[in-house]
Amino acid sequence: MKINAAVALKKGEPLVLRELSLDELRSDEVQVRLVATGVCHTDAIVRDQVYPTPLPAVLGHEGAGIVEAVGTSVTSVEVGDHVVLSFPSCGVCSSCLSGYPAYCLDLNALAFGGARTDGSTAFSDEDGSPVSSHFFGQSSFASVSNVAERSVVKISKDVPLDIVGPLGCGIQTGAGAVLNVLEPEAGSSIVIFGTGAVGMSALLAAVLANSTTIIAVDIVDSRLERAMQLGATHTINSKTEDAVERVREITAGGANYAVDTTGNARVFAQMTKSLGTLGHGALVGAAAPGTESPVDIGSLLLTGITISMVIEGDSVPQTFIPKLISLYQAGRFPFDKLVKKYDFADINTAFADSESGETLKPVVVF
Ligand code: NAD
Repeated sequence: MKINAAVALKKGEPLVLRELSLDELRSDEVQVRLVATGVCHTDAIVRDQVYPTPLPAVLGHEGAGIVEAVGTSVTSVEVGDHVVLSFPSCGVCSSCLSGYPAYCLDLNALAFGGARTDGSTAFSDEDGSPVSSHFFGQSSFASVSNVAERSVVKISKDVPLDIVGPLGCGIQTGAGAVLNVLEPEAGSSIVIFGTGAVGMSALLAAVLANSTTIIAVDIVDSRLERAMQLGATHTINSKTEDAVERVREITAGGANYAVDTTGNARVFAQMTKSLGTLGHGALVGAAAPGTESPVDIGSLLLTGITISMVIEGDSVPQTFIPKLISLYQAGRFPFDKLVKKYDFADINTAFADSESGETLKPVVVF
């Protein structure tokens, strides 16, 4: 079958729209006609080869669409179902079997390997040469894709498919860090470092959880203004103010909960110092392996704080994403406020607007 895709051809270069061939659907795959897909920071760093998925590649890992065909062993969806596409997992390792697929022992290979586990790729170029596929099990920058069943989440048909894709990664990451890991109680205080798509999702989740002191920290004033509109009670520009001092002042001694979405070593250390006694912080921002943070273990021991490292909001996508959609439909999790839509043909503008901070969560629509 011929399909249209945005292909990462060379390191650091804009994606190129071209026609590719899609191969035969495997027994454990679902063929999905994409309606829309989010664009995430991770797509950009793989395009730039910070993570070495082999190029050329079809990236994209926040897809939403309609099932066109199912492999012979697929049981979770049928033709015509509406689906969100999320991260892959093997289903049989100790993490998956314990209910933590985000820590699947094969996640790296399944998400970034650029091929099925047998080495084949779903896409090929006009001369027959392979093009990497199965990025996060899905490669959603394509009009039609063959997706691993474990990346597929069935959703109700009464929610617009052109906004839900980012629930598959960025939004469930921020929301899950709060709702699945920190679980703030009503009336609690929380500080969120970095107010991009992931941080704003954490913020919306904190509002939902009835935290009453919600502090947004960023270095860009326009982001902080947006955070106030979305429910922050206080903002701190950490370029001009001492974030730790201000958080401890606002919370009279330290926040109950904290999320670091920056992946910045210095900010991680600030997060530990912003927590009050018995506080709980979560790191979700990605940093290059080898990044070390200057944490004051001498002072922190006495505080009894907990720090969690959180992938994909600790979620089981097949149960968590439908819950987030129900909360959206009930008016309690307005994640659509983070989304701006672009035509698929303008995908490189969507990348540029995400990088410049102009857009919180770009979604390209087919
Ligand atoms: P983003 O670039 O939209 O947002 C990052 C925000 O942090 C920006 O608003 C930026 O101004 C702010 N920031 C940068 N440096 C700062 C500093 N020193 N102090 C305060 N604020 C600072 O990115 P995003 O899409 O929200 O993603 C956030 C991070 O989460 C990325 O690193 C991404 O790779 C990662 N991520 C992790 C997971 C996971 O499973 N853990 C999943 C998805 C994304």
